[in-house]
Amino acid sequence: MTTGAPRNAAGRFLNTEPFAVRSLGEVLRWQRHAWRNGLPPPPQQRTPTRDADLDFIARNAGGALTPAVTWLGHATVLAQFGGVNLLTDPHCSHRASPFSFSGPRRAQPPAIALDRMPPIDLVLVSHNHYDHLDDATVRALAAQAGGGPLFVVPLGLKQWFARRGITRVEELDWWQPLAVQGVQITLTPVRHWSARALGDRMASLWGGFAVLGPDLHLYFGGDTGYSPSNFVDTRTHFAARQTVENGGGFDIALLPIGAYAPRWFMAPQHVNPEEAVRIHLDLGAKRSLGVHWGTFELTDEPLDEPPRALAEAARAQGLMATDFGVIAIGETLRLPARQAPPSHDNAQATA
Ligand SMILES: [Zn+2]
Repeated sequence: MTTGAPRNAAGRFLNTEPFAVRSLGEVLRWQRHAWRNGLPPPPQQRTPTRDADLDFIARNAGGALTPAVTWLGHATVLAQFGGVNLLTDPHCSHRASPFSFSGPRRAQPPAIALDRMPPIDLVLVSHNHYDHLDDATVRALAAQAGGGPLFVVPLGLKQWFARRGITRVEELDWWQPLAVQGVQITLTPVRHWSARALGDRMASLWGGFAVLGPDLHLYFGGDTGYSPSNFVDTRTHFAARQTVENGGGFDIALLPIGAYAPRWFMAPQHVNPEEAVRIHLDLGAKRSLGVHWGTFELTDEPLDEPPRALAEAARAQGLMATDFGVIAIGETLRLPARQAPPSHDNAQATA
């Protein structure tokens, strides 16, 4: 369970369960059907947005206030805890595409422009698809005042950064931990795939991240289909560090809830909200936040459908919006600081 990611004879990475990458014929069948039927339908409501509380974010940048996560759009979240400022899959560009003139366009600007970002210490990149790894955003972050962040990436992606002259990069295999700036980052298996150009399919790895800090345990699901094993294995892997006495399970899980229709095409690679709720339960997370929706029109469901479907799926499992819900783009969710385990000295003193 805790060995690295499997590979085929040609060295390409594999999922833990059988996975068929969609053929060109299937892509064309999906796109022809979507075009003929005018899919996705236009959203009835705009994705809720609000101005980011830049004053709070700046004051919180040194870890002085409280653990917090701010949704910047799509899979990009600014997480502040343990004295670090961390970004997940940073994407602040106009399109999720190799081209500046075509491909999925953003429905609204990122909640924090790159030049208003607090100094970023760590960047997690889940995989190399264009809506998760953005060239211009990565270059801008690497050039931030005071020096670029450390990019933590799955195996096989280091050279993509090296070609851009970016060398503060750590590559991780599944289950491989990295201790940095007082937090422990582990790449964990999810069910997805990679490709950025012709011929590089599955050549670099994909994953989720578990980030264990003193005041917060954060899980970032990246991009994933439902796997009956991956999330249960993740919970098991960290169980000894997440006992009740040690503060319990993940304090916050950032889980994808959008880009799921049509199911015949998307199910292997993208969960729908119902499956995202299963991931929340498999992980045993205290709280989850739905991301990867409302920003780029990538698939056949309307942009505003995922949170409605999530609310229904959560209710069906007896969960409340505070257990697993969404926030506005730009909104900050302040989280209670994780309780430090009682130190041995204290235990003796009270014995
Ligand atoms: Zn992807």
